[in-house]
Amino acid sequence: MLDFCIIGGGASGLVAAVAAAGQGSGKSVLVLEKKPLPGKKLAATGNGKCNLTNRACPGAKETLAFFASIGIFTRTEEQGRVYPYAMQAKDVVYALVERAKGLGVEIRTECPVRQVKKIEEGFQVDYEGGCLKAHSVLIAAGGKAGPQFGSAGDGYVMAKALGHHVTRLAPVLTGLETTVDISHLKGIRVKARVFLKKDGRQTAEEQGEVQFNQDGLSGICVMNLSRSVKLKPGEAFAEGMARYSVCVDFLPDLDLYQTKRMLMERGGIPGMKGEDLLLSVVPDKLKQELISAAGISPRQGARDISPAKQEVLSHLLKSWELPLKGTGGWKKAQCTAGGVSLEEIHMDTMESKFVPGLYFAGEIIDYDGPCGGFNLQNAWETGIKAGKAAAHVL
Ligand SMILES: Cc1cc2nc3c(=O)[nH]c(=O)nc-3n(C[C@H](O)[C@H](O)[C@H](O)COP(=O)(O)OP(=O)(O)OC[C@H]3O[C@@H](n4cnc5c(N)ncnc54)[C@H](O)[C@@H]3O)c2cc1C
Repeated sequence: MLDFCIIGGGASGLVAAVAAAGQGSGKSVLVLEKKPLPGKKLAATGNGKCNLTNRACPGAKETLAFFASIGIFTRTEEQGRVYPYAMQAKDVVYALVERAKGLGVEIRTECPVRQVKKIEEGFQVDYEGGCLKAHSVLIAAGGKAGPQFGSAGDGYVMAKALGHHVTRLAPVLTGLETTVDISHLKGIRVKARVFLKKDGRQTAEEQGEVQFNQDGLSGICVMNLSRSVKLKPGEAFAEGMARYSVCVDFLPDLDLYQTKRMLMERGGIPGMKGEDLLLSVVPDKLKQELISAAGISPRQGARDISPAKQEVLSHLLKSWELPLKGTGGWKKAQCTAGGVSLEEIHMDTMESKFVPGLYFAGEIIDYDGPCGGFNLQNAWETGIKAGKAAAHVL
């Protein structure tokens, strides 16, 4: 009978393996990984650079000490984002896998786990091609975000079968899809403020580079905003989404009054045409879009534009509202909102409150953080806690 079986060889599973085997317990630790290689998602994080934590996280110091202890030298970039010095995510995967193997951990790849059953002495783990028994089990199979990297939601099925509740799941840290077709603006990037409205009221805001794409908007600030799109339990998707819209403020440095003044003054420039009112204010294609949305003819003289149309244009510049029809979906999402209810887990050890010997770590739990290293920090922190706790109770 195996001592500790870890389901999932991703960020939290690998770190848990190192933490458990590093206790010097001499107990057997096995990682079962679905994919041909462990850490597939980890290797893709931060665009292949791995933003492994953030200085703003309360547990960042411990995380950095851990990574230093396995040979990862780090650097801190803007906004407290910490990366491996050479900006290579693959180095983090390598260090974790090598350290785990060095401590005697077995990592079995291409072993998708099908189910976990509670038995008298511990657990029975059924995987494709076999089954095994273990005293303790850690479900570290990730969430549903980025299923192409291996995490397709299998862990939730296992957790539910063992009596746990899973709160409503949603793809977050992803783009926002608009009902209005703005695909002709694809490729445009602007520095702007974006805010989310629910039932006409502002609920969240972010600032940064907004990217226009085929289906709507993306960019880090938009991805962070996607965390605030929340549907009620049982609410139909289309109905829930219809309550949301995203607004772009193209002039975050000016208030509405200053924007109106700016347009008025520019309108007074001799020979200025309607279409040039926004010259150098926004990129060309957006210029045309906003001018036409304000009902202004591009060729008309700017002096002849009515105050009412100038008013509409200034409002569009400060709050161009686009109703939402969805978010970027699981494939493009970087994280899962919702998960195994935190109320059912001892957060100091990550052990289940219902099933002794069962642990959870990483994205599977009901936690999601913004871009910037917060989600990997969650994986490290919960994985280390679970690994250490399991090693003590083995
Ligand atoms: C493209 C992308 C970039 C990201 N960049 C960052 C970043 O820079 N910084 C940051 O903080 N966060 C980032 N994230 C989020 C972060 O990667 C995740 O939150 C984190 O990896 C979660 O760790 P985890 O161990 O819970 O899950 P994962 O890392 O997803 O690992 C789960 C593992 O379990 C395996 N598995 C699943 N089902 C089974 C099964 N049935 N049997 C066996 N194995 C199974 C999977 O194959 C996978 O290897 C990014 C996410 C994506 C998608």
